[in-house]
Amino acid sequence: MLKGIGASEGYGIGRVMLVVEQSLEYTPKEITDVDAELERYRSAVDTFCDNTMAQADALKESAGAKEAEIMMGHIAIIRDPFMGGEIENIIKAHQCAEAAVEQVCKMFIDMFSATGDDLTMQRATDVKDIRDGLLAILLGVSEVKISDAPAGTVIVVKELTPSMTAGIKKENIVGIITETGSQTSHSAILARALEIPAVLSVPGAVSQLSSGEQVIVDGSEGDVVTAPSEDEITEYTAKRESFLRERRELENYRGKATADADGTEYELFCNIGTPKDATKAMDADGEGVGLFRTEFLFMDRNSLPTEDEQFEAYKQASLIMKGKPVIIRTLDIGGDKEIPYLGLAKEENPFMGFRAIRYCLKNRDMFKSQIKAILRASAFGDIRIMFPLITAVEELREGKALVEEAKADLKASGIAYDENIKVGVMTETAASGVIADLLAEEADFFSIGTNDLTGYTMAADRGNSDVGYLYSPLQPSVLRMIRRIIKCARAKGIDVGMCGEAAANPMMIPLLISFGLTEFSVSAPSVLKVRKNIAKWTKAEADAVAEKVMAMATEAEITAYLKSVI
Ligand code: PEP
Ligand code: MG
Repeated sequence: MLKGIGASEGYGIGRVMLVVEQSLEYTPKEITDVDAELERYRSAVDTFCDNTMAQADALKESAGAKEAEIMMGHIAIIRDPFMGGEIENIIKAHQCAEAAVEQVCKMFIDMFSATGDDLTMQRATDVKDIRDGLLAILLGVSEVKISDAPAGTVIVVKELTPSMTAGIKKENIVGIITETGSQTSHSAILARALEIPAVLSVPGAVSQLSSGEQVIVDGSEGDVVTAPSEDEITEYTAKRESFLRERRELENYRGKATADADGTEYELFCNIGTPKDATKAMDADGEGVGLFRTEFLFMDRNSLPTEDEQFEAYKQASLIMKGKPVIIRTLDIGGDKEIPYLGLAKEENPFMGFRAIRYCLKNRDMFKSQIKAILRASAFGDIRIMFPLITAVEELREGKALVEEAKADLKASGIAYDENIKVGVMTETAASGVIADLLAEEADFFSIGTNDLTGYTMAADRGNSDVGYLYSPLQPSVLRMIRRIIKCARAKGIDVGMCGEAAANPMMIPLLISFGLTEFSVSAPSVLKVRKNIAKWTKAEADAVAEKVMAMATEAEITAYLKSVI
């Protein structure tokens, strides 16, 4: 078994086609007839643009208009006067067109690759694609022909470029394996758009696999099963069939409003951890971001991210979401989330310790820099602030006062922000549930964090399997907490969402509809499933279920009953 990144969900069983790139080597030569060489270069560009346009048309058919734009982007890049001008200047200095193209492209590739930013680095792949396309035309080498692949092919290639993807015949390619690429690379986006299972960044894939051998591509888990046994083939065939059946059914919910069977609408948002995840939220048809867990920006590094770095991340998420709501939760460290460079003291009881909003309010400079970054980003979209682990009204007041201070600082420096930015509370502690009436007076919205709310209500550590039998959002106590939080929010007319895992649980959905939840925030792959599950219920049916459930005394009884009705 080989491991990589599952970049496009699903299961493919087929035979490997190794795509080995053609040699684009040449011997650089000095040219004498500059005009003729310029003509040769310009005609290569014309041919390249014609080919690319044809590829874009093919892609529009197979993957969609948005994906075709990626190819059209290649034309925009090569027709850019700066890039073209630089190439022509080198030719005018008597170098051959191949060398000129190579040098200028290298300059752009190095520049884009050095940024470390995924979206910009993707531009480097685009320029490589352009360079190879132009060199192939200039050298008269024919490019790799994926379009000839027979049915049942698994493409294995070092790097899948957009132009290669354009040659893919969806009906023939059952899987894609590459040695490079990430969730957000163009190849991943295109694989998802073509609905071809893909595992990217598999180290040594090209040298370890050979053309003709049978493999299974598990794009959901990021696995490549080599030399599969009969049993494995049977197992994955069944997985594939049930995956496709569910996908077909769920696709009916794409692009639709999220509404129950009476037509009452709900917001269906996604939980994200990085700006890149916003792409997944958009691909999944999420209607916004209900929880941006910002602690991921603080992890895997040796020092605090600066205000500017954070601003860029929050702004990027908002831009990717195209102005849809983005709820940014301020730093939630401690408990099970460690950030070594902060040097937090070891505690006897970290889940009840100096963490999240408690830590932030005592480290005001750090907290204010995060709030300023969020405020600055709020000038670019519908951004909202959410405080984690609130247990007392004072914490909300202090946090809001800091938001006002940060606004005043920005105003004094003439920096734009959303003056009416909403400030909400993550209701995830037992205390916040009990004082939900008081918090609702001063918060702009609530989001119920059932992952922690369950733990804090049941006094059962969410990570301790010995007490796992107590850790359930279907415990009568937790359901009463949830019902109370929603009721208090609705009484004050503020929005109330849920961003804990329970929001995607089909057994919870009728209860949440009945209690009056207005927003669900779930992981990207759950979006269409949750939309489908919400659509099943009328309010009257949901109320009848909730009434029965709320009269039951044990979690076991509740679970058994809900299983029987969903
Ligand atoms: C929660 O506690 O329910 C939640 C969504 O946040 P996290 O899982 O990050 O604690
Ligand atoms: Mg939490």
